[in-house]
Amino acid sequence: LTETNAKPIWHPMAHPAEMRANPPKVIMKGEGVMVTDIAGNTVLDAVGGLWNVNLGYSCDPIKKAIADQLSALPYYSGFRGTSTGPSIELAHELCEWFQGEGMVRTFFTSGGSDSVETALRLARQYWKIRGQADRTKFLALKKGYHGTHFGGASVNGNANFRRNYEPLLPGVFHIPAPWTFRNPFDETDPERLAKLCARALEDEIAFQGGDTIAAFIMEPVLGAGGVIVPHESFMPLVREICDRHEILLIADEVVTGFGRTGAWSGSRLSGVKPDFMTIAKAITSGYFPLGATLIGGKVADVFEADKTSFGAIGHGYTYSGHPVGCAAGLAALAETKRLRLNENAAARGIELAAVLEGLKAKHAIVGDVRYKGLMAALELVSDRTTKKPTDKKTMAVVSEAAYEAGVMLRVSGNTVILSPPLIITAADVTKIGEALGAGLSKV
Ligand code: PMP
Repeated sequence: LTETNAKPIWHPMAHPAEMRANPPKVIMKGEGVMVTDIAGNTVLDAVGGLWNVNLGYSCDPIKKAIADQLSALPYYSGFRGTSTGPSIELAHELCEWFQGEGMVRTFFTSGGSDSVETALRLARQYWKIRGQADRTKFLALKKGYHGTHFGGASVNGNANFRRNYEPLLPGVFHIPAPWTFRNPFDETDPERLAKLCARALEDEIAFQGGDTIAAFIMEPVLGAGGVIVPHESFMPLVREICDRHEILLIADEVVTGFGRTGAWSGSRLSGVKPDFMTIAKAITSGYFPLGATLIGGKVADVFEADKTSFGAIGHGYTYSGHPVGCAAGLAALAETKRLRLNENAAARGIELAAVLEGLKAKHAIVGDVRYKGLMAALELVSDRTTKKPTDKKTMAVVSEAAYEAGVMLRVSGNTVILSPPLIITAADVTKIGEALGAGLSKV
């Protein structure tokens, strides 16, 4: 095994030839919040795997739960005729965890993309059951990210994720995200911008006809799009508009679920009850692939009271409710609760925000910093006035220098994204700041 023999793997979001020229870092070991690569470098993982390893790499209760479940029953399907103990228990736990968001039912999936796909499908089906089969369209935010399946890719708000696969789902429309740094209204005040984006949503609904729209999907805090943090008034405005037009609201909480923002969900940050929540990632802290679509009371009632031919869920995954995944999920959630990771995310997030503001004050290349809990981003620009994004080479210099200084970062376009494990300490935050500073000083 070497760093250059990874050729047979095609990597997501990368050109195969480019990956051959710049081979991936091969990670061999993880302990606490640190990972060690094949060359023996040990670095702090400020990416947290991929927004998911909230409990770090040494969570013994999850490892034990997985081992025990593997011995007892490594797999049985969660299709209609059968179920397993851990999946029933975890469904209860999730409905309890997200009771405040109005969630009453769990549909298990294998990951975030599946969860989004399921929510989109169930939204369509809901309207079929209700006799309004014309409600087929979806609305979403520009810059939103909702996974890789055809439905999720269709509602993605970034052309880069759609263009190679078009034509995608027809009847999908996007409105501007409340992103203060770049928006079509040139509005920098977050609250005023929230109103303008909500008005754009109203306009689009009027233009499409409200009774043709099945659902609106949004991340409460946009993750992969570069940590765009809407003003807390935005999601309640969206909920109110959706209610007025009877449009279902899907909260994509694949990143924001389970404490990353400092609250147990992104919806809870602003007290909104969506109709569906999509979750994955931190549900097992990354130790096993698992996701779920959670269903709110209003939708559940319609499905469960249904007497039409549209009510049966015509959709499912081989790994829906995988017993090992669900056992891992139960252990991860117990640890997440015991360690009050939401509180640690909020407290460390405040420290991280101060570090990022300091870097912005010191380095002209930092155009904007954005954060909520332990989701954070630095957007790098070659000129603060024109906001011209920095080039790829500069971004690579920053991330390599930070790696040499002992911290793994994630680069997406001209943005550095931080999503460390939620167990990080104040000393870890300082270390992330120092490594970022080392990287920025190089450019
Ligand atoms: N929704 C959001 C908000 C995400 O960030 C992601 C993945 N980053 C997905 C959906 C897709 O999840 P997965 O990669 O597990 O399929």
